[in-house]
Amino acid sequence: EAGPQGRDHALPISVRSLTKTYGAFHALNDVSIDIRNGEFMTLLGPSGSGKTTLLMVLAGFVRPDNGSVKFGEREILLLPPHKRDIGMVFQNYALFPHMTVADNLAYPLKLRRVGKAEIRERVERALDLVQLGGLGDRGIEALSGGQRQRVALARAVIFEPRILLMDEPLSALDKNLREQMQFEVRALHDRLGITTVYVTHDQREALTMSDRIAVINEGRIQQVDPPRKLYERPETFFVASFIGETYRLPVEVADGKASLFGQPVRTDSPLGSNAARQTLILRPEMLHIDEGAPEADENQMTGTLRQSVFQGDSIVSYITIHGDHEIAVRSQHRSDRSLPEPGSEVRLSWLVQDTVILPGDGRT
Ligand code: ATP
Repeated sequence: EAGPQGRDHALPISVRSLTKTYGAFHALNDVSIDIRNGEFMTLLGPSGSGKTTLLMVLAGFVRPDNGSVKFGEREILLLPPHKRDIGMVFQNYALFPHMTVADNLAYPLKLRRVGKAEIRERVERALDLVQLGGLGDRGIEALSGGQRQRVALARAVIFEPRILLMDEPLSALDKNLREQMQFEVRALHDRLGITTVYVTHDQREALTMSDRIAVINEGRIQQVDPPRKLYERPETFFVASFIGETYRLPVEVADGKASLFGQPVRTDSPLGSNAARQTLILRPEMLHIDEGAPEADENQMTGTLRQSVFQGDSIVSYITIHGDHEIAVRSQHRSDRSLPEPGSEVRLSWLVQDTVILPGDGRT
């Protein structure tokens, strides 16, 4: 079922010290990353962070100032794009609009001088692979956006490349179709076992699809980790705030111990620095309002309830911590509980294992 492709056919990618400048501007600033054989790696970052530039360096359309890129053992920076054995998918499909679906799929095989009978067979197989069986004779203009993107995917992999590069391939699709295609693209990757580099600025898409995510900002890689680790153990303020919501509270560190407004806070990850001024990062869904003392595995802080808002399935409580830090906590609605009175003191608990403290004041 996996056909001639599979992990044996894929290649790892090793990027070292890539730099690309436009005048004085660093689009890529000393980028190094290792992508494993058969891995689904996503480059995630805001607009202008350098994601596309990095992908275009891998593809061979942008020449970097410095650095090295290896596919397997082979240095490929001096190879032109068509000699790099990569499939590519873009946001705008880049299909030939006046050709049929089958002719679009056959094109990369014709370029590679594959025989007619084999082309016919492989086009059929590729159509089935992306659930377009029977649509080979359709014109591209008679396809929906989702179907076009499936053709683009099939065309990118039909010649069995060792690496697949995708630049925001789903961003032209509406939300429901985009979510469905996220699973389809991932399933296709899993079936083919092809090393895949996927560019998006959509954090949820990255979390949903990837084996690992490389977060990029201002031409630098901030952190490379699996989705869950990236979310639970962000290493920089940028990563913490780009993925998910955060609250930041000032923490004092002395003798290797952290305290929050005079109360001890425990964390089970080592404090990365001895800096006196550090910042506690909390996510809204980690926090719950507690009636009693903290459990052994929890931290706690007190605050003043400003207001509770009933929203049907949930209650949102707006709480002020230590005078000027506002925190909103969502709790499940229970008909046997009344809302606490505005002005009352409330206690917020969260798990020690969820406690992330980073050096600095959190504005960097
Ligand atoms: P987006 O999600 O908006 O595509 P990106 O993270 O993919 O963003 P890049 O396209 O890699 O960003 O661009 C990185 C930076 O390099 C941007 O500030 C862009 O303006 C700049 N840049 C890219 N190509 C050129 C060029 N040919 N000349 C000058 N500047 C460029």
